[in-house]
Amino acid sequence: MPELPEVETVRTAMENQMQGLLIRKVIISDKRMRWPIPENLPERITGGVIMGVRRRAKYLLIDITSKSGNRQEQPKDEEAKKTKDWCLLLHLGMSGSVRIYPPDHHPPQPQKHDHLIIWAGQDQNHDHAGASTIMVLNDPRRFGGAQLILRQDQDQHPLLRTLGAEPLGNQWNGAALMTAIKGRKTSIKAALLDQQVVSGIGNIYASEALYQAGISPKRQAGNISTARIETLTGAVKDVLRRAIAAGGTSLRDHVQPGGEIGYFVQKLHVYGREGETCHQCKTPIKMIRQSGRSSFYCPQCQR
Ligand SMILES: [Zn+2]
Repeated sequence: MPELPEVETVRTAMENQMQGLLIRKVIISDKRMRWPIPENLPERITGGVIMGVRRRAKYLLIDITSKSGNRQEQPKDEEAKKTKDWCLLLHLGMSGSVRIYPPDHHPPQPQKHDHLIIWAGQDQNHDHAGASTIMVLNDPRRFGGAQLILRQDQDQHPLLRTLGAEPLGNQWNGAALMTAIKGRKTSIKAALLDQQVVSGIGNIYASEALYQAGISPKRQAGNISTARIETLTGAVKDVLRRAIAAGGTSLRDHVQPGGEIGYFVQKLHVYGREGETCHQCKTPIKMIRQSGRSSFYCPQCQR
């Protein structure tokens, strides 16, 4: 399941390859997803320019200008400009992936479970299919989705408005996490997975961060000392940054024939290692179930 670092890797690749390009063609090959792809999507964004790609939690937000005329002709008034711009929100769900084909690469063969295909290039010219950068959203299990939001409405969007702080944001530190979990009777593991406490952290990186901070996943969130919570926020940032760096490496190396990005191998200390020895103390790693999710930890190093 893609977590924050995987989504960030996809974001970087998308922005590098597609920023500034004009959307030439959009095809919905299968709209059935957790949120069906809106049928008017091609009509609305074809002719628009991709201004950038952002990430909020595990959502990709593709900023697209209105198709009505080029950017120079847009009204100077900020409000008027805003009302025309779109934000295409993509979610990779459990099994979603994005493939990007740079121009002049061999035209991609359609694959099973391709849902959305976007062609973009320097100009409107549709005849030069080979000169288009092509982005494909694929999702075998269809837990992901796509939504088109007016830029000005994005903060009020139901998927975005309740999200907690970005763990890599400057404002997120020990004090911020302390405030968010104050009085909580749930485990610290459950608190880290709660998207209203902090956004974008999934099972893998919650387990790894708790290991790095030496905190047991079972510990009650509201009862942990300020100093340990400070250590934990540092550990969260550290594991996420290292994973993003690993994703960046996978991008540089990526000559995968499928063009798929965002999935990469990295060294994990506890996640998925039940029964294997701890990298620090050689104690076997334990696995427990916490609110339906598996938690992996070292009973010796994590207290
Ligand atoms: Zn250990």
